[in-house]
Amino acid sequence: MWILAKEFRFEAAHQLPNHDGKCARLHGHSWRGIIYVAGDALVENGPKEGMVIDYSDIKNYIKPLLEDYLDHYFLNETTGLAAPTSENLAQWIYEKLEAAGMPGLIAVRIDETCTSLCVYSKSKLADFVMGDREARDFSSHRAEPMPVFLTALA
Ligand SMILES: [Zn+2]
Repeated sequence: MWILAKEFRFEAAHQLPNHDGKCARLHGHSWRGIIYVAGDALVENGPKEGMVIDYSDIKNYIKPLLEDYLDHYFLNETTGLAAPTSENLAQWIYEKLEAAGMPGLIAVRIDETCTSLCVYSKSKLADFVMGDREARDFSSHRAEPMPVFLTALA
């Protein structure tokens, strides 16, 4: 199996209205995102020979989201999320990519700052990587981010 990662960046404002600290104020970040794609076969011939997926094809899936919802926008407005935390944003992007039919998608990571990040996934690959005991624990928290194994890939 191969796991590919493609980075994207955007500048955007957000606000967490119910936060009990400074995130309740309107503020912005230079956000960093990473899309993780897994595949167990390589293209055998043609212009994509030797690839799971062309990195530029991954880029083409995120590009319309950057242009229409993410880059230089107020995320509360464009995503419709009441609290566009990195958790909610990672899930929102994952589900948009999933709905667009992105092949092999396993996770979306969002870095809100240099030291704070989140990974969202629905993939059973997590069960495989984390092992049986952790998989049981993880399966009861299916919607939770799993930074332990995926952040190590970046
Ligand atoms: Zn923030």
